[in-house]
Amino acid sequence: MRPIKFFDLSRQHKKLVRELLAAFRSVTRGSAFILGKEVSSFESAFAKCFGFPYAVGVNSGSDALYLSLIASGIGKGDEVITSPFTYIASADSISQTGARPVFVDIDPVTLTINPRLLEAVITKRTKAVVVVHLFGYPADMTRIMKIARKHDLIIIEDAAQAVGAKYRGRNIGSFGDLACFSFFPTKNLGALGDGGMIVTGNHDTAVLLRKLRAHGMFKKYHHDVQGINSRLDTLQAAFLGVKLKHFHAWSERRRSLAARYTRALAKVGDLRFPPSAEGYRHVYHQYVLRTGERDALREFLDAHGVGTEVYYPLALHLQPLFKELGYVPGDLPNAERATREVLALPIYPELSNEEQSYIIKIIKRFFKDNP
Ligand SMILES: *Cc1c(COP(=O)(O)O)cnc(C)c1O
Repeated sequence: MRPIKFFDLSRQHKKLVRELLAAFRSVTRGSAFILGKEVSSFESAFAKCFGFPYAVGVNSGSDALYLSLIASGIGKGDEVITSPFTYIASADSISQTGARPVFVDIDPVTLTINPRLLEAVITKRTKAVVVVHLFGYPADMTRIMKIARKHDLIIIEDAAQAVGAKYRGRNIGSFGDLACFSFFPTKNLGALGDGGMIVTGNHDTAVLLRKLRAHGMFKKYHHDVQGINSRLDTLQAAFLGVKLKHFHAWSERRRSLAARYTRALAKVGDLRFPPSAEGYRHVYHQYVLRTGERDALREFLDAHGVGTEVYYPLALHLQPLFKELGYVPGDLPNAERATREVLALPIYPELSNEEQSYIIKIIKRFFKDNP
């Protein structure tokens, strides 16, 4: 067996090269590289595909979060709650506005924010919650929305890893006041560079976001709010339009690979599996196992040519960046424990069944040799 990379985009692009080149030719012919028509076409196609009223393309998922917070009026003196077990952007978008990130521990099974712990950290300064649908699994939106309504909090969904995920039949991204998506190349719907999208059900918010992504411009060279330069690139929008057509098939493939891993590895060693529950449609941006033998298993797989990854090795409340917030080890035990136990396996749509069988075989062998 040849080495199996943790992630391999070249396989996807090999299949799509004709379609992508046609998109490239069309954009270069028109030469409208900034906010060309492909941007608004992709915004409409994305909105329609997932049932979002308004979609605004921006430069990245990180900018989507930052601009969502700014559009919500969040800044210095405010507190915003989020998960400590996620990518840095879920939290440093908060500190970038001048607001203070407040971390709430995760549920030990779903690895998403634990709604039962949310109310205890709400103060009169709390303005919003950034809810992360981690690895493609929806957070518990029923409980979270109930708390948000009770305390008048803005909900921003960080759906960077969860495009196409559903909760009780509804698309992730349609629950909060705003939701943010990332088209970072490795995401389930990835561009050939950076890209992001903000969706909302509020027309005025969408209008404001369109200004914020273009230096607060409401008319050529006339500006009325403080914005930044963060536009979805026209070429990227054209590439994303190509990929959106294949997206459903890719999601189904990820889900079937995940189901096979879980079936084949049931009762092997001390392995614990990604969450699954009635009403939750997981899209497996990552397939993340948990084991007390994480580091040894990772080394064993590596020695047998199988790439893996650890998302995430250090919880956000313990990052040197957030030292001033005053958290210490032990404050958020479920997040800290997860950082020691999680291991992500290869799960891209182009992974072959033979490769997956090999990965499963190696994992079984590891636990047989290390009972
Ligand atoms: C990828 C990611 C982001 C940031 O997206 P970029 O497009 O890389 O800026 C934010 N939050 C989460 C959970 C992510 O996985």
